[in-house]
Amino acid sequence: MKVNLISDTTTLPSPGMLDAMHTAKVGDDVFREDPSVNALEEKVARLFGKENALFFPSGTMANQTAIKLHTQPGEQLICDHYSHIFNYEGGGVSFNSGVSCNMIEGDRGRINAKQVETKINPPDFYHSPLSTLVCLENTTNKGGGAYYDVLEIEAIRSVCNQHNLGLHLDGARIWNAMIASGQKPKIFGGLFDTISVCFSKGLGAPVGSALLGSNEAIDKAIRIRKVFGGGMRQAGFLAEAASYAIDNHWESLSEDHRKASELKDCLETQDYIEKVEPVDTNIVIFKLTNSLKDTEFIAKLEALGIRFISMGQSKLRMVTHRDYSQLQHEYVLEIIKTLKL
Ligand SMILES: *Cc1c(COP(=O)(O)O)cnc(C)c1O
Repeated sequence: MKVNLISDTTTLPSPGMLDAMHTAKVGDDVFREDPSVNALEEKVARLFGKENALFFPSGTMANQTAIKLHTQPGEQLICDHYSHIFNYEGGGVSFNSGVSCNMIEGDRGRINAKQVETKINPPDFYHSPLSTLVCLENTTNKGGGAYYDVLEIEAIRSVCNQHNLGLHLDGARIWNAMIASGQKPKIFGGLFDTISVCFSKGLGAPVGSALLGSNEAIDKAIRIRKVFGGGMRQAGFLAEAASYAIDNHWESLSEDHRKASELKDCLETQDYIEKVEPVDTNIVIFKLTNSLKDTEFIAKLEALGIRFISMGQSKLRMVTHRDYSQLQHEYVLEIIKTLKL
């Protein structure tokens, strides 16, 4: 059996999604004439209660565009030290926007209003970079799929209002947060200036993200996306996949969450496991009793057909997704229970 738990980005389009892609009505989106892209943008904007949205080839480009539109070179943004924008976007914050990051050691990738307040440089102290933006991630990736309490986001919003800071959400997996918590999309739309969402993670579309914001923000974003080389032509084939994913794949994220939680329960009782971090959604992060054996453990499971990754610092990660079947799940649980390390 072949099982891929390296990421929820490995999913392939479902048969229904492929049908939707085949029959998509398309046009040239650089001329804003692709009806499927336009429909998707309107649908996502409305879902989150934002004025407008823009389709992107990647979540990275959507985040980088948001950072660019909120900041000027030399300024500083505030984020958690685990954040994707800092760790996994190739240094784009400094390369694309000329901005530095003031980092907080939060709780599994989540930061709070008090911590944000301590990181704001006084605007009249011209020696330090001007703080202009706060970026949150929900759910957190390196933080192990943790999601925010809305009350904390409200408190951060009010700090941002007080200090005139923009607030951006890296909501690559906001879909998982909403399924796990029951929080509604409009709550997030009301709290953030801009939100990026991924269709290519747990939702299972092959490619695509969106950036949501006011008409003014999205007008700026179109120009920035152009500069980044992200204008796509008949992107409607991809937009239709994304739209199908929202309608048909969103609910079943709860299955991914159940499997992740069962993986945690199973891993936790093994002698060779020191610690499994809390599992709130579809990401399981754990540590071996003897972390020197990380490579051996990964290789042993790989030989048995099970792939997952190390995130460094002795953190091993398994991510569940819609192509991880119940049959595969039972196989993995069995292997974990019988493995000798
Ligand atoms: C996957 C991901 C992104 C976007 O990544 P792309 O591979 O560029 O689509 C952004 N933020 C987080 C937290 C992610 O997990």
